[in-house]
Amino acid sequence: MTGLKTAVRSHIGRVRQLNEDRAWVGTTPGGLTAAAVADGMGGHNAGDVASTLAIDSLSKSLSAWEGVVSAIEAEEKLKAIVLAANAAVFEAASTKPQYHNMGTTVVVALLDEREGLIGHIGDSRAYRVRGGAIEQLTDDHTLVNELARSGQLSREEAANHPRRNVLTRALGTDADVSVDLQRIDMLPGDRLLICSDGLSALVDKALILDTMNTEGVTLDQRADRLIALALTAGGDDNVTVALIEYEAETVTRDGGTP
Ligand code: MG
Repeated sequence: MTGLKTAVRSHIGRVRQLNEDRAWVGTTPGGLTAAAVADGMGGHNAGDVASTLAIDSLSKSLSAWEGVVSAIEAEEKLKAIVLAANAAVFEAASTKPQYHNMGTTVVVALLDEREGLIGHIGDSRAYRVRGGAIEQLTDDHTLVNELARSGQLSREEAANHPRRNVLTRALGTDADVSVDLQRIDMLPGDRLLICSDGLSALVDKALILDTMNTEGVTLDQRADRLIALALTAGGDDNVTVALIEYEAETVTRDGGTP
């Protein structure tokens, strides 16, 4: 087992009739820590079906994940399980008219105390908080982000754009999808935040960092505070957070570890 702690929270928000976000945290048989967040989309509550199918598929695959021998093999395998989730959602969307065109974002993390893999599609995000700084690890697959990257929109214009929710990539809307995968390292004291846009689009990054960094707070309390911040900011979307913490060793006065 790893020494990583996890916490997960999801809230319907103040405006929506249904929570179409889903999240899961767990461990693989080999003791890796895993987390996934999905934010579903589609008419007539289909978003709820898409995110549920995706998280069910990912959690099943990760719960059966056996150790792999190489980094490359791990990447290929993680990609394969995201593609299996894509197939599950796409098949349901293709066979039932009411689910036509449904899809979901997804962020999946798999890690131990040394390193990890992050896979993502869409605009749910992963951040790493390390040494008082917050770093966004994922790059949104949105129209406005592409326009901002090519210099056609400023970052500020992108953040306030009326079409900022338009995704350029989603899980389940096509038979095939490209998964962004990256390898990260982990250091004692690091905290990972995986969240839906119900947090990242509403709450200032500096405020998120403060909440992630406050001393003397449990990981569950941090998750609750992040949800509360989104609700205070209006809560106009479902909001979901999954946290993973690599606790720094506390050194006692005699120099040993408790
Ligand atoms: Mg959302």
